[in-house]
Amino acid sequence: MSQLIHGKPLTEWLHMYPLLEKMMSTEEVFWLNPNYTRWTNMAKELPFDEGDVREAEQRWKRFAPFIATVFPETKHSEGIIESPLIEIENMKKELASMFQLPIQGKLLLKCDSHLPIAGSIKARGGIYEVLKHAEELALEHGLLSLEDDYSILASDKFRAFFSQYSITVGSTGNLGLSIGMISAKLGFRVNVHMSADAKQWKKELLRSNGVNVIEHHSDYSYAVEMGRKEAEKDPNNYFIDDENSPHLFMGYAVAAFRLKKQLEEKKIVVDKDHPLFVYLPCGVGGAPGGITFGLKLLFQDDVHCFFAEPTHSPCMLLGMMTQLHDKVSVHDFGIDNKTEADGLAVGRPSKFVGKTMEKLVSGIYTMNDDRLFMLLKRMKDVEGIALEPSALAGVYGPVQLLAEGKTYMEQHELPVKNATHICWATGGSLVPKEEMEAYYQKAVNF
Ligand SMILES: *Cc1c(COP(=O)(O)O)cnc(C)c1O
Repeated sequence: MSQLIHGKPLTEWLHMYPLLEKMMSTEEVFWLNPNYTRWTNMAKELPFDEGDVREAEQRWKRFAPFIATVFPETKHSEGIIESPLIEIENMKKELASMFQLPIQGKLLLKCDSHLPIAGSIKARGGIYEVLKHAEELALEHGLLSLEDDYSILASDKFRAFFSQYSITVGSTGNLGLSIGMISAKLGFRVNVHMSADAKQWKKELLRSNGVNVIEHHSDYSYAVEMGRKEAEKDPNNYFIDDENSPHLFMGYAVAAFRLKKQLEEKKIVVDKDHPLFVYLPCGVGGAPGGITFGLKLLFQDDVHCFFAEPTHSPCMLLGMMTQLHDKVSVHDFGIDNKTEADGLAVGRPSKFVGKTMEKLVSGIYTMNDDRLFMLLKRMKDVEGIALEPSALAGVYGPVQLLAEGKTYMEQHELPVKNATHICWATGGSLVPKEEMEAYYQKAVNF
């Protein structure tokens, strides 16, 4: 068999990238980015700057009175959608004993699993892009000015106006959920194209909110493609392109500014002598990419971001390592993209995120589903926090870095005993009780 993969025989690919062999047999890997570059030597090459993130932050602020009005659960935060950052001392001990490895430094969990409204990290990107679109439409039609109190958007007049427009998206579940929830409140008609991995309860929740859910018996990339095709037919149908949206990216990036404040409140110092490590579950790349970009703006060389993918869906690693980015799918290398981590079940990475991350991300690791479930159970047992499987991918990060990343630490002369590790918990609070129980029981069997 001498079938070519992207113009080369497999043997040549394996020779160029020895890690591919393990990836193809869905074994866990830890990859250090050979193109990682100091911030000052590369920041100018990036397609975005701090102004873009500040603009997104301002937009969130303008919408806060509206959000507080239509989602009473955000009243106490005055319409700001944010999640807690908490120290997980018990889990730190648990990881140390599970993996026979002392976890040096502080261990924290960023609980996007408990973001209001959508219960996942998608509340940052998805909700943001819908708000941006709504604002543009209302401004364009002279119904709104930037100085207005945006709570006026929560009126029948605006709902009637937005009901002339549709929003369409393709999703493995959570993006559809976040977009469906906010769009329904504004009055938009919403179409969510769901991949086969999407969980039944996510579809039902959306339908009960009046969202048009279209199911596909194929994977995420196909669902996105179908959404794109549908939206193209109607100029009043706005497509949110998870594979290629700078707006989603900016919505995610704002998280970094908020995190910086939370770290300051906790008196956690980030500097050359106190490095920050952040572990981000990665699907198509927008969420971890946007957050990494924001963090790099603020902490530059003192923050080190690692992405986490399932062994069966290592699309970002494959795209970045081969530099084929969105040209390559895990299927091209015989990897099946089947994982219980539905939020990460993506076979082809974003068009622009991998390129933007080329010199920014420190590395990527993969992990198998069994381990996700094991960590899911331990997190519930010792911290009382229930997360969906995808969200546990970040929790494996400190273990992987401390076990496999010694060269990285030495190369960058990082004092690991002063480190702060943040595992980004990306979803879980909306998972129905019975589903969560089933996840938990799965782990009991290991
Ligand atoms: C979508 C999602 C991610 C990853 O975000 P991408 O933008 O797809 O990389 C991680 N965790 C959960 C729970 C998600 O829903």
